[in-house]
Formats: sequence, C-alpha cells, structure tokens
Amino acid sequence: MIMTIENSQEAINLENKYGAHNYHPLPVVLARGEGVHVWDVEGKKYYDFLSAYSAVNQGHCHPRIVNALKEQAETLTLTSRAFYNDTLGSYEKYMSEYFGFDKILPMNTGAEAVETAIKLCRKWAYEKKGIAENEAKIIVCEDNFHGRTTTIISFSNDPDAQKNFGPYTPGFIKIPHNDIAALKAALSEENVAGFLIEPIQGEAGVFVPDDGYLAEAHRLCTEANVLFIADEVQTGIARTGELLACDYENVKPDVLILGKAVSGGVYPVSAVMADDRIMEVIKPGQHGSTFGGNPLAAKVAIAALEVVKDENLAENAKHLGEIFRERMNVFIAKTDLVNAVRGKGLLNAILINDTEDSSTAWDICVALKENGLLAKPTHGNIIRFAPPLVMTEEQLHDCCDIIERTITAFE
Ligand SMILES: *Cc1c(COP(=O)(O)O)cnc(C)c1O
Repeated sequence: MIMTIENSQEAINLENKYGAHNYHPLPVVLARGEGVHVWDVEGKKYYDFLSAYSAVNQGHCHPRIVNALKEQAETLTLTSRAFYNDTLGSYEKYMSEYFGFDKILPMNTGAEAVETAIKLCRKWAYEKKGIAENEAKIIVCEDNFHGRTTTIISFSNDPDAQKNFGPYTPGFIKIPHNDIAALKAALSEENVAGFLIEPIQGEAGVFVPDDGYLAEAHRLCTEANVLFIADEVQTGIARTGELLACDYENVKPDVLILGKAVSGGVYPVSAVMADDRIMEVIKPGQHGSTFGGNPLAAKVAIAALEVVKDENLAENAKHLGEIFRERMNVFIAKTDLVNAVRGKGLLNAILINDTEDSSTAWDICVALKENGLLAKPTHGNIIRFAPPLVMTEEQLHDCCDIIERTITAFE
C-alpha cells in the first residue's frame, strides 16, 4: 500500500530512512506548484526562487506543457530508436530551426548531454582534425559544474563531487574561468580538441565573465580549430534574458548543450546541437539512449519552447533582472550583511558578508522559507536567486520586500 503523507515531518523521515543521503534539502516538503508558486504539505504558499535549478523557467505545471504531456501520454510514449516514430523528426526540425543548428542529438539529462558532447568532440578530433587516437584533450574551466558522471567529475575541482570516486578519466586541461591569457596558453598545447564552458558559471555561484570574454574565447577557438562547446543547461532557454547566454556576444557555439528548461521541468529532456560538419562523425550504433528523443519528450519540449517565445520570457527575464539587481544594490548600500549582487536576467546571486564555512547563508534561506520564499545557498556564503521567468513585476517587488525584510532581521 502507498502511504499518504499527513505532514511534512513524516515525508522528511521517510526520505531520511529510505533514500540515499545524497542531498541536504531545506526543511520544506512541497506538494503542489503553479506558476511562480509552490505549496507545502500543510498548505503554506511560497515563491519558488530556485525553479528546480532553472528547469522550471516556464513556471510550475504550465497548462500548455502539461496538456502536451497528457495528450501524448495517451497516444504513444516510447518506441526506442529501433523504429521510426511520427514525432521525433518534427521535433528535430523544430529544434534545428529554433536554435539554428543543422542537427540535434536527443538525450534525457544534462549530464548525458555533456557526455555526448565530449564524445562528439573527441570523435571529431580523430576523424576530422587528425589528432592521434586517444590523445585528444578538452579544455575546461576551474569551478565548473557539468553534471555527475564519472568522466564529468573527473575534471571537477569540487572535493565533494570528486573524492573517492576515482580513478578519473584523463584528457582534460583545467584553466581559470574568465582568463583569456590562460585559454591562449592552453590552446597552444598539442592535441587540443575542444573548450567546454558554462557561459555563466551557475553552481559555482553565478560567475559572469567580463564583457567580450565569450566572443574572444570563441574567436581563439576558431583560429585554433578547436570546438567551442557551450554548456547552456542552466543558462539557456531565456534564463539570462536572451534565449542563450552566448547570444549576448553573438557567439554561435560549435556544439550547444541544452537540458533543464527545454521541457519546462515537466520531463527530463536534453539535447546536443551541432552542424553537419561535426555531427556527421556519429554513425549508427556508436552512441544512443533508449529514452532519448521519445515521443513524450518531443511533444513536451516543443510545447515548453513555444511558451518561451509566445510569452516573451527572455524579454521578461531581462527586464525583471535589471529591476532585481537595482533593488538589491540599493539594499546593499544600506546593509552590512550583503556584499554584492551579480547575475544576468533572472540568474542572480547575492554574496553574504560572512566566511564560506559559516551557516549564515543557510540560516537566511531557512528564514526566507519562513517568510514565504524558497532559495538555496550554492557555495557556503552565496545565495542564488532564480525564480520562474513567468513572474510579474509586482510579484518581483513583493519578493524583493521579503528578501530585504528577512536579511535585515539578521542584523
Ligand atoms: C544541472 C546542470 C548539468 C547537469 O544536468 P543534470 O540534468 O542534473 O544531469 C550540467 N551542466 C550545467 C551547467 C548544469 O547546470
């Protein structure tokens, strides 16, 4: 028999007893979501300021996306790629036109898409660039977050993500983020195949590189015949105020990695996009996924991406982001508890004026929860603020009031 949850503590106890302890959630148990709001088991309403790490850009349970899911769930859910189906091709065409690449390789999670991009890059290096087999190197940035697979954590420098999960996959060169000189030096090494980068580092604490950095990095990669691989799993799909964060500098990546909000948080959908000159190195049997590009995923993703365009979510994110940072800067001038606000569009973070190992940011997030707003610290003293992009200006001001009032109470 399946238990019905009567109160929050009961749900927390169950997770503690029966689930692996691989997360440290804020003590709130959510039972329902709609738009920018979620409700806990006791019926208390909150603003969601995490959006499931930017997967729910379109807002919780968007009716258009949910209807697409329902309709397709009753028609055809999974065929595997052993056969053709009547939705995948039109989804692939939609994605190709939406993002401006010849082809898509459909996967399910962000980490799978990053793995796919790494494999694609290496294969391209051996078959098109002429690098000797097993010698290809990919440049990555320090403090990156690209997911949790063995290969991806091999080039992480987060000790929690890496320790005791070795042996690690070789073939990566780590350079500081936002450092053109370091990139130049790395590109001059032998056998470099790709440069994998988050245009804004999300998990690391919303690090926005200097203006012009992405464009120059892309130019240097092109010059060196090295693939510029943008991981826009978190920054993509209007989050930062443009469809892609790379759009701010008119950079078209050689390989684009998407996930999270591609489906509006309704279903796991990820994608790798590239032009034929790169994608053609993948032949039948060389890469795949049972669920990748299934009919349910295809219909959900199309609906989710239509919502982004029809509801002008990029414009709204850009506009509200400016208001948010403006208000936080006024607040910062008056408080000693916050040192800075940074971000683009509705991907922002504030820096709490305390040491990284202090519990202040966590305590503030618990107090924010009490006051009806859910956010989570990223690294120690940094709190990320990333509400759904369907927020109104009035709601945003309401949220800023909550944030300011809550932090002021800590003084
Ligand atoms: C979340 C994230 C991933 C991993 O996505 P999963 O769906 O959790 O595997 C990869 N890259 C970036 C930049 C992310 O934010």
